[in-house]
Amino acid sequence: MRAQWDLPGADIDVGTLYCIGRNYAAHAAEMGSAVPDEPLVFIKPPTSYRPSGSTIHLPAWTSNVHHEVEVVVVIGDDLDAISANDALSAVAGVGIGLDLTARDVQAEAKKRGEPWSRSKGWKGAAPVSGLVPGAECLVPGADPLTFDLLVNGDVRQQGSTALMERSIASLICFVADVFGLRRGDAIFTGTPEGVAALHSGDHVEARLHDLATLTVNIA
Ligand code: MG
Repeated sequence: MRAQWDLPGADIDVGTLYCIGRNYAAHAAEMGSAVPDEPLVFIKPPTSYRPSGSTIHLPAWTSNVHHEVEVVVVIGDDLDAISANDALSAVAGVGIGLDLTARDVQAEAKKRGEPWSRSKGWKGAAPVSGLVPGAECLVPGADPLTFDLLVNGDVRQQGSTALMERSIASLICFVADVFGLRRGDAIFTGTPEGVAALHSGDHVEARLHDLATLTVNIA
């Protein structure tokens, strides 16, 4: 059965989750990488989604799952192309999510030159908060969105959309142009610096300013 996004008054199935790599310079630097010349896109399946309040079980085949807190935009229309000026109007809802990453498995796959889908797409690897309507917080000229991540009450990551290398609008254009977007698809817009390991028993809270909160427990 398809999960649905938590957006009051809407009825939107969770679709493909497009994730943007290295969209904040300080995170690219901490990974020993540069900001890519073109958007770096990978995909998580809908089955990796979990709503706020979930318990996420760390897979047995990894010993190093990292948190990456990211602003998530959920698309409300079917788009095969859209202009940058119109892109934000296609956003049904905005939330805060975690791009959970089995860093050890990803690093090994990169070393071998193999796909790293498993490290990013496992069951539970994409928890996302309830959504706020895009029209309320994501319009041209609106203030940047700030967000943070707490693990057991300690702040681990802080970010602002003002620090993105590529804007949310430009990312929507790129993904629509290359892949096509469908209602219910989402874009994880990249993580700021401060990624680190999670452990069984951790309580994780991600906050999108005062708009949305995601809480998950790690088991
Ligand atoms: Mg990420």
